[in-house]
Amino acid sequence: MSANAATPVSERTRAAWQSGWWRRAVAIPSPNCSARPPGIIVSLVVLHSISLPPGSYGGDAIERLFTNRLDWNAHPYYQSIRDLRVSAHFVIRRDGKLLQFVSCDQRAWHAGVSTWRGRDNCNDYSIGVELEGLEGQTFEPAQYAALVTLLRSLARRHRALQIVGHEHVAPARKHDPGAGFDWALLASLLRWRAARIPFASRSSNDAVDARESAL
Ligand SMILES: [Zn+2]
Repeated sequence: MSANAATPVSERTRAAWQSGWWRRAVAIPSPNCSARPPGIIVSLVVLHSISLPPGSYGGDAIERLFTNRLDWNAHPYYQSIRDLRVSAHFVIRRDGKLLQFVSCDQRAWHAGVSTWRGRDNCNDYSIGVELEGLEGQTFEPAQYAALVTLLRSLARRHRALQIVGHEHVAPARKHDPGAGFDWALLASLLRWRAARIPFASRSSNDAVDARESAL
């Protein structure tokens, strides 16, 4: 354990969070959550992309989906996700606005069947962050800025977090956030140890591991 990992959470960090809810996010509580396993240490952030319908930005369909209020008949695409009960801890809008749906002390339902470095059920020990966007497309500077601010605060509360994509923990099923997400930019903005953002470098051993495990 590093000296940093043993540092207690500061008063300032404690004040910024209330039972796992971040004061800087707009809280929209979702019923789609459950308790984390007892004693679990949150050690992972899973990044996703979402837009509803796909490619349409700025509406309220994401909030509605995550709070079970989406009208499945409002768009033909919604038939393909009908009755889905999902959530993420956070959503970052195209303009950088941050919404929170589930307390970080609770388990949100974002990753599904998933594995990271031999550990199944990533929802148990991860925080899910959805970037409003389209899988494979690029994301806005305001979204990276909001994400970095969020990750820095999360890292003060949850030590030794690693940041990966949904595509990395469920490679056979999922492809978000996709090639348009700039992992190297995130790494340059965060300036964390490389091991904490394993996909920022294409030549990293972690990327090789992920490719092999996806075969
Ligand atoms: Zn996803």
